[in-house]
Amino acid sequence: MGSLMERKQYVSRYIKIGSSYKFRCTRCGLCCSGGPNVSVTIFDVIRIARFLRIKPEAVIDNYTNMIIADIIPVLALKGDENGQCLFLYRDVGGKTSCTIYPARPIRCRLYPILVESLSLNHVYIDPKSPGVGRGSEKSLPIDLIKLYVEEKLSHYRLLLDLLSSKGLNPVDAIYEALRVVLEKDKLAGIDEVDKLGEV
Ligand code: SF4
Repeated sequence: MGSLMERKQYVSRYIKIGSSYKFRCTRCGLCCSGGPNVSVTIFDVIRIARFLRIKPEAVIDNYTNMIIADIIPVLALKGDENGQCLFLYRDVGGKTSCTIYPARPIRCRLYPILVESLSLNHVYIDPKSPGVGRGSEKSLPIDLIKLYVEEKLSHYRLLLDLLSSKGLNPVDAIYEALRVVLEKDKLAGIDEVDKLGEV
């Protein structure tokens, strides 16, 4: 994002919201088809693994791309050749559904709500979603937003610690972070996340 114009366009894509908003999912699948860009934390990975009954390492290996940004490893869900998330299912009528719906990443649970900083003062709603403005007025799912921020912070703090104090390379740091989280079992399970509200 180089020019001032690009930065302004980026900020203007979002509408800042207060304590309420309107949204009803139209199952258009647009949010899951815009490129393989849903970033996931180790916590998301473990919930997906438990749902699919496979090892968390297999989720990383088979369903994510690891982008090394400088020295920080970022995990993002893989997409197919059209940029559609590998977990998106489209029926013959064009209606879409998520095949890991109960364990979908928190970022997906929150969409079209976008948490653009780790401060709760920067929560937006993406006006590109066709469901925005439909349905009745809702309150922000604040507990879900808090968990999202908490898990992001824990994820990146742990990675930074493993990269700096243990001197691991970015790839090894991800797998070691997985091991540390599984050992501590600080994970909010699928059932607990379900109780934190939805958009
Ligand atoms: S995980 Fe599910 S909700 Fe998230 S982008 Fe993929 S299909 Fe969509």
